Amino acid sequence: MRDIFQQLLTPEVAMVLILLGVCVGSVYLLSIVYVIRDAGRRGASPRWMWAIIAMVPIVGILAYVILRPSSYLIDREEQDLDIALREHQLSHYGICPKCGGPIDRDFVVCPLCNTQVRNVCPTCHRPLNADWQVCPYCRTRIQ
Ligand SMILES: [Zn+2]
Ligand SMILES: [Zn+2]
Repeated sequence: MRDIFQQLLTPEVAMVLILLGVCVGSVYLLSIVYVIRDAGRRGASPRWMWAIIAMVPIVGILAYVILRPSSYLIDREEQDLDIALREHQLSHYGICPKCGGPIDRDFVVCPLCNTQVRNVCPTCHRPLNADWQVCPYCRTRIQ
């Protein structure tokens, strides 16, 4: 048995095996480095926990790829900002029922398509919401 092994293990074969080992080893190390850096970018916390998981060969990196957050932290922050900005705009503007364009609080017509979006008080000429019965500025009854 030992003879066969020694016959097989020529210097060339040993060289190939060492090279293979070095390759596998560096891929393994790189995968750990990748997980640590990627976890940082994606805000997957705690990072040290992912680093430990990544040290389990093959299974660790697979588990990380499956369980990690699907988007980068920077993208998520941008999305959150975007949503906050849109909500902020909506609280200040309405939306034109015809074209969907933004309507400022005191617009009477949509500036994009000229649709009337609010009534105007006949006394003080301030813009009124369509369902208001009384002008809140001058107490004029609407119809
Ligand atoms: Zn419009
Ligand atoms: Zn009025």
